[in-house]
Amino acid sequence: METRSGTLPVREGSSRTANRLQKKSPSVKLRSTPVLDKISRFIAQHNPQTPALVVDLDVIADNYLALRSTLPAAEVYYAVKANPAPEVITRLVSLGSFFDVASPAEIELVMSAGAKPQQISFGNTIKKETDIASAYKRGVRMFAFDSEAELLKLARSAPDAKVFCRLLMNCEGADWPLSRKFGCEVDMARDLLIKAKALRLQPYGVSFHVGSQQTRTDQWAFALEKTAELFASLKQAGISLEMVNIGGGLPAHYRDSVEPVEAYAAAIQAAMTEHFGENLPRIIIEPGRSLVGDSGVIEAEVVLISKKSYGDDTRWVYLDIGKFSGLAETHDEAIKYRIEVVGRKGATGPVILAGPSCDSVDILYEKFQYRLPLSLQVGDRIRIHATGAYTSSYSSVGFNGFAPLKTYCI
Ligand SMILES: *Cc1c(COP(=O)(O)O)cnc(C)c1O
Repeated sequence: METRSGTLPVREGSSRTANRLQKKSPSVKLRSTPVLDKISRFIAQHNPQTPALVVDLDVIADNYLALRSTLPAAEVYYAVKANPAPEVITRLVSLGSFFDVASPAEIELVMSAGAKPQQISFGNTIKKETDIASAYKRGVRMFAFDSEAELLKLARSAPDAKVFCRLLMNCEGADWPLSRKFGCEVDMARDLLIKAKALRLQPYGVSFHVGSQQTRTDQWAFALEKTAELFASLKQAGISLEMVNIGGGLPAHYRDSVEPVEAYAAAIQAAMTEHFGENLPRIIIEPGRSLVGDSGVIEAEVVLISKKSYGDDTRWVYLDIGKFSGLAETHDEAIKYRIEVVGRKGATGPVILAGPSCDSVDILYEKFQYRLPLSLQVGDRIRIHATGAYTSSYSSVGFNGFAPLKTYCI
């Protein structure tokens, strides 16, 4: 294994940030996909037991700084659920990032990495009242809601806190939509924000999420138009909102090419100016996937290659990682990762890719046909690229005895 890993193509020169920013259409061809130098060197040296996720913290730092410089008007609240590795959080704290959290355990995580309560937004709209109370006790003062019942909990257990209402979005153009479950319509949001004031909370702002892995740059503009209308209508009711939380959604680089971060930033900036003019509110952005997605590579192994009948030319390729051990976002084949076979070249053929567990749901890609080298063998190493987001955090505690995905931060 080690010698094979050692023969990997090595990417030339230029800094990672420059590379990322220049890369207009990221490579989608399997065999020509270079792995990040530092990660492939780590794998070659340490030969970690597979499956393993290796995360390059410098890529995360570069992504954070690139976002800050392309969208300077927005404060970054990293969405912790994308990758909660303590090393990731610690690096982001050191860069001055703020955090979007969903539970007391995530609050504990970011605070023990050095974040102050003022750097935390409790962005989940579905909270137990005891969890609201414990966050409040720790000093957290910014909370999301999208319903009257949640607002009443906040009034009781987080008195005088800053609250923001999440708007419902259709999430068109997103590969991993977050629609329907979250947010409410504008007219309801208006009533609730008025009610927040009556309940002696601070009606602070509006949030939305246009859907994760959002590939369209125009989706923020639609959301901001709605948001601006709500701001204006509340102003007439005597309430001046101060903050717009434009959520996450910026894409990572999977198989299909996506626009560079500058294109999204420009669209957001233009829409802010169009709808708010000189009176820009405080802007918060909550990236998860776009900060950490491209920072990670999963090293996995081929456990079995088989066919179901003599006439088949499609091979079933079973890996030592599946839906329950880190690749949950292959659900409905929503996220299509770049997959590379280490050290094999030559002709390729169609495969169905599946995980190792005894559950028939644990098929990764069947409708979308990946092609892997015909020379593929049991024991070969597979690299799954851009897997820094929503992998380790989704992996089960040990379904079927397969261990949770181990993360190495380098
Ligand atoms: C998950 C989540 C995010 C991060 O979304 P990405 O698409 O990964 O950037 C941001 N905000 C909230 C409220 C979330 O739940």
